[in-house]
Amino acid sequence: MYFAFRPGFSIYKKGEGPVFIVPHSGPALGGEGRDDGADRVASFCFEKMNGSLLISNMPRDPFYGIDLNRDIPPKQEALSMWKKIQMNPNAISKAYLSKYAWVAKSDADYNKKKKIYSNFWSSAKSSGNIFVIIHRKFALLKNYPSIMDFITFNGIGIDKKVLKKIIGIANKKYNLFFRKIAKNFQLEIINREQQILSSLELKQSSLADVKKKYSWILSKEVNIIKKNAEKKYFEEMRSNFTKNNFLRAVKNTMKNIGSPKITVERIFSGSVSFAPKRFILKGNPIVLQIESDAFINEYYPKKGAEIILYILKTIDKYKKYKTAGMQKAVYDFLSS
Ligand SMILES: [Zn+2]
Repeated sequence: MYFAFRPGFSIYKKGEGPVFIVPHSGPALGGEGRDDGADRVASFCFEKMNGSLLISNMPRDPFYGIDLNRDIPPKQEALSMWKKIQMNPNAISKAYLSKYAWVAKSDADYNKKKKIYSNFWSSAKSSGNIFVIIHRKFALLKNYPSIMDFITFNGIGIDKKVLKKIIGIANKKYNLFFRKIAKNFQLEIINREQQILSSLELKQSSLADVKKKYSWILSKEVNIIKKNAEKKYFEEMRSNFTKNNFLRAVKNTMKNIGSPKITVERIFSGSVSFAPKRFILKGNPIVLQIESDAFINEYYPKKGAEIILYILKTIDKYKKYKTAGMQKAVYDFLSS
């Protein structure tokens, strides 16, 4: 096996195979966390399938490190954002964070960061033509039933209809596993919802404040509760929104909601994955981006890798049928 520790990332290579990329696996410094366990899932994929593995080892926070998923900032913006942060560490805007990869204190600093960023993505691009980019999402009711969400980049990374068929097959194959872990996954969700509300409470937020701060999650969650909970729990929560009434409704929802599943663009579309779009999508490769749940990354990373590999192999079979011109076989294969 070849391996190299380059500034900002590590790269491992072993024979021919897919390129597994984890852009957010670095240490958690500053405001941004890390994609816990996504690196473990990727390393098991690499062990089983060979190919290449690229792991970031910088914080994704644009002050302490580089967010490898975002775009190259215009130099002036990177320099002026650095100055603003010096006056007030909270000055960095959401808009900047969702668009750009770093801030810079000088021209030299800017150029150094740009070089690390470009090296990471050009090393990835030159390593193969099937790419699997792995991230971490959280166990939240709003994301249910997704335990792994696959992103196609508007069908450019892979035909969305084909992927949906293949994910359907994988959901059947792993149905028993998903049923076995359903209860614990749901408990993880309940615990996380409770924790978010409790930490807001500790900040002595008023209920109106809690609703406002929590609304990015809450609006979607309320819809899921409405669809799945018994009416009385939904009504209780709606007429009197307290933490307890909300959690009672969440718990009741879980009783009726079924097992988790692998999904296609249920939560994410890849719209802020500027770097893969700029560097990886060109030239018609296969690109899968996966938001793998922290739950599966932490407790079942080998199973997570097995599922990804099964999907990759099924895509490969489909490609072979297709290049052989066996249209009927493709149809039978996807419909079986
Ligand atoms: Zn990520």
